Amino acid sequence: MDIVLLPAHNPGPLTGEGNNTYLLVWSDRSQPRASLIDAGVGHPDHLAEIDGALRARGAELAEVLVTHAHSDHASGAGAVRRRWPSAVFRKIPWPERDGTYGRDWRALEDGSLVADGSLVTIHTPGHAPDHACFWDPRTRVLFSADLVIKGTTVVIPASHGGSLTAYLESLNRVLRLDPERLLPAHGPAIDRPRSLIEEYLEHRALREQQILNAVASGCDTLDGILDAVYPGLSDDLRPVARESALAHLQKLESDGRLRIGDEAILLL
Ligand SMILES: [Zn+2]
Repeated sequence: MDIVLLPAHNPGPLTGEGNNTYLLVWSDRSQPRASLIDAGVGHPDHLAEIDGALRARGAELAEVLVTHAHSDHASGAGAVRRRWPSAVFRKIPWPERDGTYGRDWRALEDGSLVADGSLVTIHTPGHAPDHACFWDPRTRVLFSADLVIKGTTVVIPASHGGSLTAYLESLNRVLRLDPERLLPAHGPAIDRPRSLIEEYLEHRALREQQILNAVASGCDTLDGILDAVYPGLSDDLRPVARESALAHLQKLESDGRLRIGDEAILLL
């Protein structure tokens, strides 16, 4: 199987240098077939590069696997579908969002085999409820989408389907898979990812303790907690930090450690 990294050509404040999409090609067949992981945003250069990679290998695009319904991964589905109408589009359902990107989704679930039976769908909710990674058990490569990004953290959009509890479980699940290499949707490949995933878990544990300390010292509103935990936070980073702090508060509430009331956040 050839793995061809094709950038989606969408650099920006939320996507870094832009998304990575991956074209997987089986060239050893009489009719070579390909699967594309993530649809990008429909940028003409992306479409041209998919086309070029397919033509160079004489391959047909059989399948598009979308890791989750955030626009930088899914919004190109319409453009890819128009260009390759026979391709099948597959993802784990997120009913509130999927219709935004077309109606012809075939549902994946945890354990579904994709890419000619060579990859296993791993449902890894947290960053988004429908978030999927794709696992090659023979090479121990995980197409890890937005699970981790080298050099930064992953946003858990608490008011838009994110769940920190689910995210931490997903990180632990991927640790148990013991992958050799992660191929993420943003940033470079991650070799021997165990230490990075462990750092992520430590970072979240530290942040949780900071938030508990802030509440214990009398901060009883989300803004008060933000000021205590992120001193000097700039206005443009505040919305992301709010989502992150809210994700922690929701986890702490579901753990029975505090209650998010209408008026105030209270330790239990
Ligand atoms: Zn995302």
